[in-house]
Amino acid sequence: VFKESDLAILIDSKERKYLVKLKKDAFFSFHKGNVSFNEIIGKPDGIKIKSSHGETLTVFRPTLEEYILKMKRGAQIIYPKDISRIITLLDVFPGAKVFEAGTGSGALTLYLLRAVGEKGKVVSYEKRQDFYENAKINIEKFIGNETTGQLILLNKDIAEGIEESDFDRAILDLTEPWLFLDKVVNALKTGGILGCYLTTVLQIYSLMEEFEKNFYQTLHKIGIFEILERKWEKEGLSLRPALRMVAHTGFIVVFRKLA
Ligand code: SAM
Repeated sequence: VFKESDLAILIDSKERKYLVKLKKDAFFSFHKGNVSFNEIIGKPDGIKIKSSHGETLTVFRPTLEEYILKMKRGAQIIYPKDISRIITLLDVFPGAKVFEAGTGSGALTLYLLRAVGEKGKVVSYEKRQDFYENAKINIEKFIGNETTGQLILLNKDIAEGIEESDFDRAILDLTEPWLFLDKVVNALKTGGILGCYLTTVLQIYSLMEEFEKNFYQTLHKIGIFEILERKWEKEGLSLRPALRMVAHTGFIVVFRKLA
């Protein structure tokens, strides 16, 4: 049952989604009228309600995917299709200790916190104070009701070094990961897995050159991956791929630390 201060996602007839925080006696207003939150509070997940202009809205608790796509962005987030593969390629397991830089908007951080579970730990560095503050708010707003791993979120530049060590996994989502390979390799356990998320092929080239020149004795290359996802739609007699698709997001490069 929905309570005051819960998050809810409202879905209209065109499948547009609106993320709201429920507040007694308050309203959500959009181009198809108003909806009173009092009609949602006390009702179960999955109800349908009508706006003042007669639009039907379906109401659910947001999934983490819906939440990260709607939360306030400082930096560009990693899309769910890539996050899913990062979690599997890096084999993030319950109880794992994971290092992340930069936190950005906190999208990947939220998924890491879920994947490591109650006994796990995520240490995340973000060098920009405004992005750090925004990520902190985004994360707190979602995990209020969840039991997740321990989070150490720091407003810190990875160039200053990584304080802790013995990480099982590490993920770098920043522009020049090759500059910080030494620091991350030192902080990883032997056998630990490192992922780098990059948006252009020139970045992959620079990273691989650095690996081949200076890290082939300390890192084992797992591979370079690009994930494509295509949604399909059924409308009457037509069943076909959606006309619009997110054509490019980024690449995931994965290594493991050698003994
Ligand atoms: N993965 C994040 C998410 O899903 O929300 C998005 C990360 S964003 C693309 C890259 C972030 O790395 C930016 O917020 C940037 O400020 C941060 N960054 C860049 N260089 C950094 C460094 N040397 N140390 C820490 N953070 C850094």
